[in-house]
Amino acid sequence: MNSHLRYVCHTVGTLEVPDEISLIYTLSGCPLRCTGCHSADLRNPNLGRILDPVALAAVLDRYASLATCVCFLGGEWQPDALIKLLRVSRAKSFATCLYTGLEGVDDTLTVHLDYLKLGPFLPARGGLDRPGTNQRFIDLRRGIDITHRFQRHITQNPMFAA
Ligand code: SF4
Repeated sequence: MNSHLRYVCHTVGTLEVPDEISLIYTLSGCPLRCTGCHSADLRNPNLGRILDPVALAAVLDRYASLATCVCFLGGEWQPDALIKLLRVSRAKSFATCLYTGLEGVDDTLTVHLDYLKLGPFLPARGGLDRPGTNQRFIDLRRGIDITHRFQRHITQNPMFAA
């Protein structure tokens, strides 16, 4: 079994975590089989480059004044490796977020997280920005569900009116 995680890319975005500028890592090796998976190539655990704590720390030093949060898209399937990355992120004063297709994750992970997106992608229900979504976004620091923050821009923006 692999003892490390790999990533296919990292980008900076403001949509994934409300009120944060996130450095977003897309991790490979997802073992889930969501119906209608939008990124089936990410199921390959050998895709992309190894992301270890030393490499992450070097990137975070470069983004110290550009981002406020590190958001991992997946990685819960290697909890020990992910926790090491989350520890580095917090040590560098970044907030932390995990997007998972699971309905829940172990407390050994959540203690290292500030934000958590839960739930598989179901095409009929849509993502976080859909009113009927099955997915949830939790602000763990405040202990509240803030999924509605993803839907507000749709209802307020006439571009998205039905
Ligand atoms: S969690 Fe994401 S990458 Fe994994 S199977 Fe589901 S949609 Fe695909």
